[in-house]
Amino acid sequence: MSLLAIGTLAYDTIETASATREEQLGGSATYFSLAAALFGPVALVGVVGDDFRKKDTELLGSRGVDLSGLEVAKGKTFRWAGRYEADWNTRHTISTSLNVFEHFDPKVPHASRSARFLFLANAAPEIQAKALAQVVSPVFVMADTMNLWIDIAKPALLDLLRKVDAVILNDEEARMLTGEKNLLRAATKTLTLGPRFVVLKKGEHGAFLIGKGAHFALPAYPVEEVVDPTGAGDSFAGGFMGHVAAEGNAEPATLRRSMVHGTAAASFCVEGFGVERLARCTKAEIDARCGELRAIVTV
Ligand code: AMP
Repeated sequence: MSLLAIGTLAYDTIETASATREEQLGGSATYFSLAAALFGPVALVGVVGDDFRKKDTELLGSRGVDLSGLEVAKGKTFRWAGRYEADWNTRHTISTSLNVFEHFDPKVPHASRSARFLFLANAAPEIQAKALAQVVSPVFVMADTMNLWIDIAKPALLDLLRKVDAVILNDEEARMLTGEKNLLRAATKTLTLGPRFVVLKKGEHGAFLIGKGAHFALPAYPVEEVVDPTGAGDSFAGGFMGHVAAEGNAEPATLRRSMVHGTAAASFCVEGFGVERLARCTKAEIDARCGELRAIVTV
C-alpha cells in the first residue's frame, strides 16, 4: 500500500441556508479516502463507534478503501455539527463530540507501515503524531488541522509540524496559526515552522502552493450550484495526495499538477450533501474536469 491516511470518520449534522441534514456520513478521513481512491489504492486508519452503520462501511469498501486499519470501539462515533452562512464563506461549528475518538490509540496495520505517502487528516495532533511514528520511512507526509486544534493543542501541533513535509490549511487556520493577517505572510511564516510546502485553501477563491521550487495558484472550479461545502478541504487533499501517490514522487512539478486534481475532487464534493456526489464520482469525470480547469487557466 503506498498511500495511507489517518483521521476522523464521523456523523455530521449540517445546516445550510436551504436545508438541514442530520447524522450524515462525514469525517476528515472519509472524504479524503473517497477522493484519493479515485487515483489508486488508499488505506485508512481510524476509529468508529458500535453505532457506525454497516452501509457506510460497505460504501467505503466498495469504493476501494482498505479498511483493515479501521477500529470499531465500544461507544459512539465522532460527531460534528456545523452551520453555513448563505454566502458559504462562513462556517460555524455548533458542536464537536469526540466520543470514541477521545481515547483513540491509532494502530497502523503491519502492511501499511511501509506506506510511502502519508496523509494526517484533521485529528488531534497527538493522534496524528502517534500514527506518523508507526510509518517506517515515508517519502512525503502531509498534515491537515483545524481551528479547534490550533486553539486547544497548539504545542502538540507545532511539534507535529516539525516532522512533516507539507501542511494544508485554510485561510482562517493559517492566520490563527501564525498571527499574520496577510495570507502570503502567513504561508511564509508557516514554512519556518517545519514543513517544506504549504497548501493554502481559500474556499471558492481556490488554493495556492508555496515552498522550495513551488509557487503556484489555482482558482476553484466554478461550480454552478454549491449544495454543501463540507469535506471540500479533505477531498482536495484526497485528490492531491492520490495523484502524488499515483505519480510516485513529490517533486515540485508533481505537486503543481496534483493541485489540479485536488481542485477537481473538491468541486465534485460540494455538488452534493455529505459524500453523496463524491461517492459516485468516476475517474473519467475527474479527468474531464481537470482538462476544463487547465483550459480555464491557460493564457
Ligand atoms: P472540511 O469541510 O474539509 O473542513 O471537513 C469537514 C469534516 O471534518 C466533517 O465531516 C467533520 O466530521 C470533520 N471534522 C470536524 N471537526 C473536526 C475536528 N476537530 N477534528 C477532526 N475532524 C473534524
